[in-house]
Amino acid sequence: MSSSDFDVIIVGAGMVGASLAQILAQADFQVALLERSELSIDWKEEEHDVRVSALNLGSQRMLSEIGAWSGIESRRVSHYTHMYVWDAGSRARIEFDCADFGRARLGTIVENGLVTYVLHKELMAASNVEVLPKTELERVYRDDSGVKLSLSGNQNLRCKVLVGADGAESSVRRMLGFKSSVKSFDQTAIVAQVSTERDHQKTAWQRFLHTGPLAFLPLSNGDCSIVWSCEQGLATELMQLDEEDFTQRLTDAFEAKLGTVTQVGPRKTFALSSAQVIRYVDDRCALIGDAAHVVHPLAGQGVNLGMVDAAALAQVLVDARANNKDIGGRLTLRRYERWRKGENLLMGYALAGIKRLFGTRSYSIEKLRGMGLRLVDMTAPVKYAFASKAMGLTGDLPKIMDWRMLED
Ligand SMILES: Cc1cc2nc3c(=O)[nH]c(=O)nc-3n(C[C@H](O)[C@H](O)[C@H](O)COP(=O)(O)OP(=O)(O)OC[C@H]3O[C@@H](n4cnc5c(N)ncnc54)[C@H](O)[C@@H]3O)c2cc1C
Repeated sequence: MSSSDFDVIIVGAGMVGASLAQILAQADFQVALLERSELSIDWKEEEHDVRVSALNLGSQRMLSEIGAWSGIESRRVSHYTHMYVWDAGSRARIEFDCADFGRARLGTIVENGLVTYVLHKELMAASNVEVLPKTELERVYRDDSGVKLSLSGNQNLRCKVLVGADGAESSVRRMLGFKSSVKSFDQTAIVAQVSTERDHQKTAWQRFLHTGPLAFLPLSNGDCSIVWSCEQGLATELMQLDEEDFTQRLTDAFEAKLGTVTQVGPRKTFALSSAQVIRYVDDRCALIGDAAHVVHPLAGQGVNLGMVDAAALAQVLVDARANNKDIGGRLTLRRYERWRKGENLLMGYALAGIKRLFGTRSYSIEKLRGMGLRLVDMTAPVKYAFASKAMGLTGDLPKIMDWRMLED
């Protein structure tokens, strides 16, 4: 085999692309991983990534199977045991307790940069993975036997399957002409680390305001990470406030649930949109993670869906190889698309619907919303079904995510 022949080339070494690379490497595939930025090869305890994610038990299970979870958990994570969600309009609320699910936690807040650091370190050490940081994809050519990639710096690589894991603005998607429907939510998320007067009680909090949801996610040092989604005009106004005024507005918006917000770190903004590609696969190519679908962050599902994509695609490729089938063949890749597209679409619609429902100020809709929320809170099987799905415990899960083997 020439050094430029790979089974799979993955473009994008974010949490999803790097996870896929690690699963495939452990299944003895020859893998190349391209990343346009520097890799996260340095982790400093005193530095905190302001971008965090709520990883569900399914994603944790997968990271644990590929040997990455212990490296993440031993450095810095925050397990949460409760969730408390309430509606500013109707005053209705819903609560979740991990004990009701027989689990030690509902999920875990992790720093995105820590997850990629651990994965990148493992991948750099793997003999069957070539990691190419600071590399741009320039052109893609396909024929019956494979895919040829032209990269920055006059490099050329060949592979049997090309995977686009290059995020919401995916170049792979654009270069291969995958069609997608993109919709702006006309909202911006403000993200920051904050200190509060009272302890977060290992609880993920979320208040639905008509301007958008406001989440306080518990961190291991007692602080919270906020995700304040709101209309763009309000976000601009909030970003211009000094620390004192911002913390006051935040305390009020959160109904001082944890007392006064006493401190806020640097604030970052993210424009929110939703996107779904029409096709996930084409000859010898597949899209995973945000390259295939972008959802509203209100339920913390984006990267978790991407992790299931990565595990499902890996399982499809492993099965095809075991059955002496072409891993880049249309039939092989279509199996991945059939597996994942419906579920991702459904989640995208559900989250967009929830965002719209809670953004409505009509009295009758507020009343109905409150009744619905209370009903779900009181109806154990319905509540259990919603929560188990969000926790990554149910659904058509790839083998590597089988929660029944999860050790809490
Ligand atoms: C405010 C906010 C809060 C969120 N909270 C949560 C949460 O709690 N839980 C959750 O599950 N999800 C959450 N999400 C969603 C989550 O962040 C995304 O779904 C996730 O980051 C997608 O991962 P990815 O690896 O697919 O894409 P990305 O994280 O976008 O990674 C793509 C990678 O590809 C690289 N790349 C891009 N283009 C190229 C190119 N041409 N060539 C080479 N490399 C390229 C990029 O540099 C990057 O490293 C949140 C999102 C937002 C905005």
